[in-house]
Amino acid sequence: MTHGSPARPTVVVLGGGYAGIQVARPLDDLADVVLVEPKDDFVHNVAALRALVDPGWLERIYLPYTGLLGRGRVIRDRAVKADADRVVLASGAELFPDYLVLATGSGYPFPAKPDLADPDLTSTEAAHAKVRNTHAALAGADRVLLLGAGPVGIELAGEIKAVWPGKQVTLVDVAGDVLGERYRPDLKAELRRQLTGLGAGLLLGSPLRAGPPTAPGEPGTFTVTTQAGDEVTADIWFRCYGVVPASDYLAGGLAAARRPDGFVEVTPELRVAGQDQVFALGDVSAADQNKGAGAAGRQAPVVAGNIRALITGEGELAQYEPPAASIIVPIGPDGGAGQRAGLEDLVPAETVAELKGRDMMVHRFAELLGLST
Ligand SMILES: Cc1cc2nc3c(=O)[nH]c(=O)nc-3n(C[C@H](O)[C@H](O)[C@H](O)COP(=O)(O)OP(=O)(O)OC[C@H]3O[C@@H](n4cnc5c(N)ncnc54)[C@H](O)[C@@H]3O)c2cc1C
Repeated sequence: MTHGSPARPTVVVLGGGYAGIQVARPLDDLADVVLVEPKDDFVHNVAALRALVDPGWLERIYLPYTGLLGRGRVIRDRAVKADADRVVLASGAELFPDYLVLATGSGYPFPAKPDLADPDLTSTEAAHAKVRNTHAALAGADRVLLLGAGPVGIELAGEIKAVWPGKQVTLVDVAGDVLGERYRPDLKAELRRQLTGLGAGLLLGSPLRAGPPTAPGEPGTFTVTTQAGDEVTADIWFRCYGVVPASDYLAGGLAAARRPDGFVEVTPELRVAGQDQVFALGDVSAADQNKGAGAAGRQAPVVAGNIRALITGEGELAQYEPPAASIIVPIGPDGGAGQRAGLEDLVPAETVAELKGRDMMVHRFAELLGLST
């Protein structure tokens, strides 16, 4: 594929997650947009844990790309090497973008995100089968160990307790408190209160002496011990930590902007450091410590608008300003809490349920994909 015409340049977007779809769509009228994504469907992974405890949600959170672009196209492939003006795909095909957008996000241990290390799981059918099998294993386990008491561990504990209140759920974390360093102590205290109110166990401030002998998500009874000497016996466990930015395919000048931790350095205009026509946003970029679908959604109009301004030669480039730390953490469909920049009070459970817990924001993303809801 060659460069687009000056009047209608080619914009290649790598990754069809929250960030990629929200850059690709608004540029479809102006440019030849090519979105590269290895999975069959968009995965609304914000609701992935709900689908684990209730696989009836699977159909609602794997959404086709068919309605996303009118003129542009979605290629089911994976970038294996990307320089500013040449992208090599796993199939061997090459793309020559005028503008390149890095939106390859991050990996997270299954079931929070689909396991992309396994190329077979890029098929929706195989990914659904894996969730259903893990659901069956979880349903049969009386005791569940969650390693990591950050947002994913807390949310998973809440989902499990909402469906199976009688299951024993224990969260273990090396950190001395839930949720991680960036958030308010009163939010952590409220989340702890709700979790213990549901009967979930919290073992904080001490790592395990040795990890569980079984693979995560596989049935099998085991006992582990924390350095502090607490023992936990469980029938299944899940890894609830470990965000890994997907940036290993960057080459040449782009590799120079890849930090040692894998995140991509960007300017306030969200251009990749040292590049004029390459942008990065969402989880893969270092633009914001708030890694969220919400942050990707706030960055996307900046990237799409800046590419539009560069193509048309009209208007100034906009800058992205990261907001103060903000998060909502559901605990089941009706519980949870959050903090919002500029708000003194915590976000109460009722609001968290309205924003996320009840419908898991499914309609919003179906709409962004051009699907009727
Ligand atoms: C369980 C869970 C709950 C969450 N809840 C919330 C929430 O309530 N609110 C919130 O704001 N955030 C939430 N998040 C965080 C949110 O999911 C991420 O921040 C979001 O996925 C980031 O979007 P992204 O588009 O940058 O990356 P991703 O969603 O990771 O998308 C990247 C896409 O790129 C594709 N890709 C990867 N490598 C390549 C390659 N080499 N070539 C081409 N394509 C590639 C992937 O297949 C993927 O589709 C949650 C995360 C988890 C795990």
